[in-house]
Amino acid sequence: MPTRRTSRNWRVLPGAGSRLIVAVVLTMGLMPTVCVLAFMNAAMRNERLAVKQRLTDIYQRQLREDRDAIASLASSWMQLRTEDQTPAVAFERLVRAGLRDSVIVRDAQGRTAYPNQAKSPQNATESAMALQARVREALQSGRKDQAVALLTGEMMDPSLKDAADETGRLIVPNAMLLAMQLMDRGDLRVDAMAEALIERINDYDHENLPASQRLFLMTSMVEMGIAASRFPTLNAERQATAYLSIEQSPAQQGIMMSTATPRLWQMGSVDSRIILLFEEAHLIAAMEQALSRAMALPGSHRRFVPPSRPGMKQTAQTPPPFLSITLGDGFPGWQLALDLDRDPFDAAAKQAEAAYLIAGGSVSIAILLLAATVAAYLRRQIKLTRLKNDLIATVSHELKTPLASMRVLVDTLREGRCTDAKQASEYFELMARENERLTRLIDHFLAFSRMERRKLAFVFEPVSVAEIVETAVSSVRDRFTPPHAKLDVELAPDLPALHADKDAMVTAVLNLLDNAWKYTGEEKQVQVRAVAVSGHVFIEVRDNGVGLSRRAAAKVFDRFYQVDQTLSRRTGGCGLGLSIVKFIIEAHGGKVQVRSQPGQGSTFTIMLPVEHGAEEVHGQ
Ligand code: ADP
Repeated sequence: MPTRRTSRNWRVLPGAGSRLIVAVVLTMGLMPTVCVLAFMNAAMRNERLAVKQRLTDIYQRQLREDRDAIASLASSWMQLRTEDQTPAVAFERLVRAGLRDSVIVRDAQGRTAYPNQAKSPQNATESAMALQARVREALQSGRKDQAVALLTGEMMDPSLKDAADETGRLIVPNAMLLAMQLMDRGDLRVDAMAEALIERINDYDHENLPASQRLFLMTSMVEMGIAASRFPTLNAERQATAYLSIEQSPAQQGIMMSTATPRLWQMGSVDSRIILLFEEAHLIAAMEQALSRAMALPGSHRRFVPPSRPGMKQTAQTPPPFLSITLGDGFPGWQLALDLDRDPFDAAAKQAEAAYLIAGGSVSIAILLLAATVAAYLRRQIKLTRLKNDLIATVSHELKTPLASMRVLVDTLREGRCTDAKQASEYFELMARENERLTRLIDHFLAFSRMERRKLAFVFEPVSVAEIVETAVSSVRDRFTPPHAKLDVELAPDLPALHADKDAMVTAVLNLLDNAWKYTGEEKQVQVRAVAVSGHVFIEVRDNGVGLSRRAAAKVFDRFYQVDQTLSRRTGGCGLGLSIVKFIIEAHGGKVQVRSQPGQGSTFTIMLPVEHGAEEVHGQ
């Protein structure tokens, strides 16, 4: 099996070197990088937390300010008073001032003063009731015009203005409504009557209308086509009436309480004379308006969350707010929540993170580069050590063989054991060959050593290809003695001159010829050819030798590689010849390749560019 030839004692295990490099990369490169990244991660997390805390503080401060704003709004509501006005007037003024949907005005004893009950019958009631009876009679007997005439005539007498029936309802406003209903559509008096009636309904200062009658008149007129906007208190009246129609939990001073009507809230004034009624949507809008003066912090918005009503299903599943605070004693169960439009921590923390990333990234890259450099250096050192060991093992082994055989021959001759002159001459011949082998070996070692130390300098000069080939061939020519060994040389006539180091090129070709001789059997047929094709010179050495497997062919140019050590041993080699060829040819900007098959011989081809740089090139 082909292996690097090494002495057991000197062997550096290949796995040990790789493990060392892996250990170096891990401890020097990866571990610090992982640590730096972990630190960076922790730093960024802390930075995020710090930013979050800072922003949370700011938002919380804002929420507290907002709560104060709502508290002062509630207190302004709480301070509202009836100001010695009649309950009806107080109702109208409070409702018209806005910000609340309706009010209930109470008297000093806590009884409802507005919406008011009907009062006891007034003066002139009898004549008004008599008139009413006449109208009824006229209508029953089909005399509509007469009825209208009564309603618009006698009934409008100022003395009857405040006349009320036994239930306390004013007679005239109802009569006016009836007149409007009886009159033809085109009758000009309808509008005048409507205007007069609207005025009476909306007049809280002078009219003694019971609230229920006022609401009845308003709704009847809206049904007749009068715009609801003509009655600014219509909704408030409805709201107040509805509120009173259901039994309510008592309103408390300055506290926003729910009512029996869903989404209707009540708050009592400080003097307990007023109950303010709020529809939930309007209440929230009013509070939001109070907040809008204090702008929300960018990226956030606030919302009011009323207490969830017992028994009410929570429909919309809103995500929990980022922050929330209770609205205080005035709004039991209410909360002011703050939501974030986007993640503001991201933006705030991003800058700091970018700085961390750059710093951490640079440190990691620096560490990794350093580790890579050290690993590369170690790799080279390990490789070098291995080569040195290989070299020492090879040198000692290779030198021993020729020296030993020379010694045997010398001893034989010196001790006079060889008497035959022919045999003595054969011995001398053998010694000369061993010597030559030794010289070749030492030449290879020296070339290799210079190559390794990068000391092999080439001197480039114009040199003819023929000269290179012929010089190399002349060195081996003696060995190729027919009929068993044949060396053919074929040089194309138009070979250009190369710019090359002649001695080095001769060594390269000689090594190929030497191998062709060594790795062929008894019958040796070697051809050397040199041709020039498209700016390149090809020098080809073909033999009919043992050939190479595909795997071996891929490795023959490696240092110390030998396919068959016993064969090499016999022929005298150390696995350096082809690596020296490769080194020389590549230093000349060329390539060397092999085509071969086991048992089919091999063809080694050197390819060199004709236009190689004229400068003096030193080995790699
Ligand atoms: P060596 O000193 O062993 O000849 P080389 O580097 O010259 O070292 O060659 C490396 C190996 O390549 C040889 O040991 C041999 O097995 C194989 N090799 C080289 N040249 C030939 C060839 N012409 N035919 C077959 N095998 C060869």
